[in-house]
Amino acid sequence: MLELNSSNYYSLEADREYMSNSQYKNFIDCEARAMAKLSGEWSEPPSESLLLGSYVHAWADGTLENFKQTTPELFTKKGELYAHYKIGDKMIETLANDPFIMFLLQGEKEKIITAEFAGVIWKAKLDVWNEDGERIVDLKTVRDIRGKHWDKELGCYVSFVEAFGYLRQMAIYAELERVYRDRSHWLETLIVAVSKEDPPDKAVIGLDHHRIEEELAEVERKMPRVLAVKNGQVEPKRCESCGYCRETKKLSQVVHYMDLLA
Ligand SMILES: [Zn+2]
Repeated sequence: MLELNSSNYYSLEADREYMSNSQYKNFIDCEARAMAKLSGEWSEPPSESLLLGSYVHAWADGTLENFKQTTPELFTKKGELYAHYKIGDKMIETLANDPFIMFLLQGEKEKIITAEFAGVIWKAKLDVWNEDGERIVDLKTVRDIRGKHWDKELGCYVSFVEAFGYLRQMAIYAELERVYRDRSHWLETLIVAVSKEDPPDKAVIGLDHHRIEEELAEVERKMPRVLAVKNGQVEPKRCESCGYCRETKKLSQVVHYMDLLA
């Protein structure tokens, strides 16, 4: 298999050979879009929110100066940081001024691992890997930490870590790292979250073993379908609401107004 490093980690070739948390999420959200991404037919348009996240991550792994130099879209013609990225500096300050967060961010940064789980080989990039400290830490930038997100399937409000699949991600990382190190127990998995509010909010968020088990069981349950689609054995389903589906939609029937929110 392809030997992964920091320059080919996000390549299409790597995505075709390996499963990853974000690829799995893509398949669950919209199979048609996931396949269009893998074939190179479609790619996610760049977003300010993603770039802001990368900005804060670059600080955490000690590569912010390099990131600024290689990312001219952050700056105005005068060389000043665009207003909507200035909050990035406040987010960094918020993290840097908190001794507990700075303690948790110690360890090996951007650690690439590969391991088998649910019948497929995965790749993962751990923001902070600290085996001596027995923990894995993932840094998340979020609109607001206490925000409520409506979950259609559950019919209730959930927190951002559930709404964006971050608990599943941490569960997958715990299991992949355990297999990677051939250990019998999981390391503690923590999310360090910082919000884009002014001033930014912050939190360190943990999850229990029971939830990790539940998340892993769900991935194992859904993986046969994901792999059958990825391997071309079954036709991918369209969600008809994501960016890819909207761009490629062809109408053939009338929708009843009651079905618009279904
Ligand atoms: Zn779709």
